[in-house]
Amino acid sequence: MCGIIAYIGKQKAVPILLEGLKQLEYRGYDSAGISVIQNEKIITLKAVGKVVELQNKIGAQDFLGKIGIAHTRWATHGKPSDRNSHPHGDCESNIFLVHNGIIENYQDLKKILQKKKHKFVSETDSEVLAHLIEEFNKKPASTRGDASSTRGGLDFKKSVLEALKLVRGTYGLAIINKNEPDKIIIARNGSPLILGIGKDEFIVASDASAIVRHTDKVIYLDDGEMAQISADGFEISNIKNKIVSKEISKLNWTLEESKKGGFPHFMLKEIFEQPEVIANGLRGRVEHFLSEDNFPILGGLRPIEKKLRRIKKIIIVACGTSYYSGLVGEYMLEEYAGIPTEVEYASEFRYRKPILDSSTAVVAISQSGETADTLAAIREAKNKGALTLGIVNVVGSTIARETDAGTHTLSGPEIGVASTKAFTTQLVVLVLWTLMLGRQRDMSSVMSKRIAQELKNMPKLIEGILKKSKEIKKIAKKYSYAKDFLYLGRKYNFPIALEGALKIKEISYVHAEGYATGEMKHGPIALIEENFPSIFICPKDSVYEKNISGMQEIKARGGKIIAIATTGDKEIARIADDVIYIPKTLEMLTPFISVIPLQLFAYYFGVAKGYDVDKPRNLAKSVTVE
Ligand code: GLU
Repeated sequence: MCGIIAYIGKQKAVPILLEGLKQLEYRGYDSAGISVIQNEKIITLKAVGKVVELQNKIGAQDFLGKIGIAHTRWATHGKPSDRNSHPHGDCESNIFLVHNGIIENYQDLKKILQKKKHKFVSETDSEVLAHLIEEFNKKPASTRGDASSTRGGLDFKKSVLEALKLVRGTYGLAIINKNEPDKIIIARNGSPLILGIGKDEFIVASDASAIVRHTDKVIYLDDGEMAQISADGFEISNIKNKIVSKEISKLNWTLEESKKGGFPHFMLKEIFEQPEVIANGLRGRVEHFLSEDNFPILGGLRPIEKKLRRIKKIIIVACGTSYYSGLVGEYMLEEYAGIPTEVEYASEFRYRKPILDSSTAVVAISQSGETADTLAAIREAKNKGALTLGIVNVVGSTIARETDAGTHTLSGPEIGVASTKAFTTQLVVLVLWTLMLGRQRDMSSVMSKRIAQELKNMPKLIEGILKKSKEIKKIAKKYSYAKDFLYLGRKYNFPIALEGALKIKEISYVHAEGYATGEMKHGPIALIEENFPSIFICPKDSVYEKNISGMQEIKARGGKIIAIATTGDKEIARIADDVIYIPKTLEMLTPFISVIPLQLFAYYFGVAKGYDVDKPRNLAKSVTVE
């Protein structure tokens, strides 16, 4: 989710690039870097942390170069450090590039390039691109260039084209070359890239927020397209080197609006990003489980693969929304991997006397990787000899570093305090772990393939639900009188009831309780009256009938009901006052789609009450205190 920017024109590039980076900073702030072409040289500066650190490093230096590229990083491969910061260069420091995305086959490409004597300085996937382009661009030497992969001596653009043919994965790229210093090449596949057209200048960026102050004329690049840009013009072509003519669009967003991608709040933007970030989390991973004979191992767990075979118990430690994804994980891991699993609040775990040994894996789930309680819990578990694992979003965070192994959720920075995309991407990792641990035990390849196939459908199913946001908004408004809500669900959707209730508490300061439907009659039913609505998560699954009984019990006491139900379920429409339909999927995967209407409901409910849903009172994004 990095931010990239490039400038070519009549003005000094550095101040424009720095200003643009600040606008893109919400996309990542692990490190920032800049390369500018000046006096036939490329000058590169990098700094760990926010853009201001880079700015301090540049200080009063006045760079005259009018062509440059810059990057603000959100690390996916390799911890935040100077070495891993972009721009990345080739061996001769001729070619520099900034990259947003993930090169899936970077390890294979790196091995090939290392054999050809390329020297790598970073742990990133991105650096491989600079060397690959170099390989095509440099003059062929008799000792080099076996026909299998390279020809050498191609011009800059052709070198980029040839390199991209070998790459699998996603990219938004801006590249400069000392030997063709009058141009920038950009390319896009799966990561956003916009070309801003000014007067005798061009500015390229990951999103419009970095462009809007320079020009309102833009071209949105599509996947598989690239452009060669010089100070007096540009040419867009596709990956097959065919010229494409593109429409020039007009930006009509303010700066603030464009930062949020046109959404009024980061929370809504992040809800809508879920299909994309789930696809990111699956890419290069889910494929392991789609072949029936392969024995699947997830990259981050490879070093401890043997230890995982001996695990007899899992304890998940987490807080808040991550705790609820852990609960979904408990159901999955027990049902499909056959491993006894418990989920604990990290803040409790650290103060009691858990029974742990080397056959226990303690799993920390944390978006930031810095949650103080979760970190303390994992340290406690380590002291007691347990294997510690992490499901963390932020690469290089303390939990990511201190656990024995883990998998990143790859959801990009989450700005809205109420967690949304972090939750669903944690679920992605939990399903993948269930498949891997299950396959190490009794799960058949047919079963893992079936689950993996359906998991791949989640982005599409979620997109369908997002299209109903207007309908959900209407329902949220209709209930804006309510001062209390009861959220109910069973089995896989019990944790979703808890998460739905937490969302509404967080951003609209309304009392809400999440309960297991079966438990409702043991207490909360006493609260029910006409103005105390219940939200039932009631898909057609193995506990459907039981949920319907619960619904009837509420109805009999005059309570209003909003139901989240499976498309085509007419019976439910006769009982509930309002129904939001979600598509049919495997029971264990329903949380992915049942949580979406609840996120939207909470969002619209909070907005209807006039609250700043991105910054709810008394809360902070990453809780680094006890
Ligand atoms: N994979 C690159 C890195 O880790 C870019 C990350 C991104 O765009 O999210 O540096």
